[in-house]
Amino acid sequence: MRDLATLVRRLQLPYIPGLTLAECTESVEAVLAKREVCNALLTGIALDELAERDGLPEPLQGAVLHDDPLFGIDEVLALAVVNIYGSIGFTNFGYLDKVKPGVVGVVDRAGHAPGRSNTFLDDLIAAIAAAAAARIAHRRHGPVPEAGREG
Ligand code: MG
Repeated sequence: MRDLATLVRRLQLPYIPGLTLAECTESVEAVLAKREVCNALLTGIALDELAERDGLPEPLQGAVLHDDPLFGIDEVLALAVVNIYGSIGFTNFGYLDKVKPGVVGVVDRAGHAPGRSNTFLDDLIAAIAAAAAARIAHRRHGPVPEAGREG
C-alpha cells in the first residue's frame, strides 16, 4: 500500500502541492474497493500464477511466461481499472507503463526471473496507482454537474 501510495503522490504532487501520503493511501483503498478492480486483479494474478506452473495452453503459456511485448492483453486488462476515472487515468497509466518507476519496476524485474511471471501484475499495479491519481485529480476539481456517481 505504501509503495502504491508513493507512486500516486509522485503522479499528482506536481499539480497538488502538499498532497500527503495519507490522502494517496485513501485513494488507493477506494480504487481497490471497486468490484471490477478486484476482478481484474484476481484474473491477472491467476493467469500469472498459472503461467508459473506451466498451466496455460499454448500459445498463451509462452506469451504470458515470457512477457511477450506483442501479447498486449495484460495492458488491455489493466485498462479496465484505468478507465474507471477517465482519461487522466489513461495518460497516468501510459507514463507508469513506460517509465516503470518504484514498485512497478520492482515487480516487472522480479517477473523476468526464470519460471516467474508478473506479466499481468506489473500492469495492474500501475493501473491501480494511475486510477487512484486520477481520482484525486477529479475530486480536487469538485463534483461534475449532474454526475454524483463517483465512489
Ligand atoms: Mg505486462
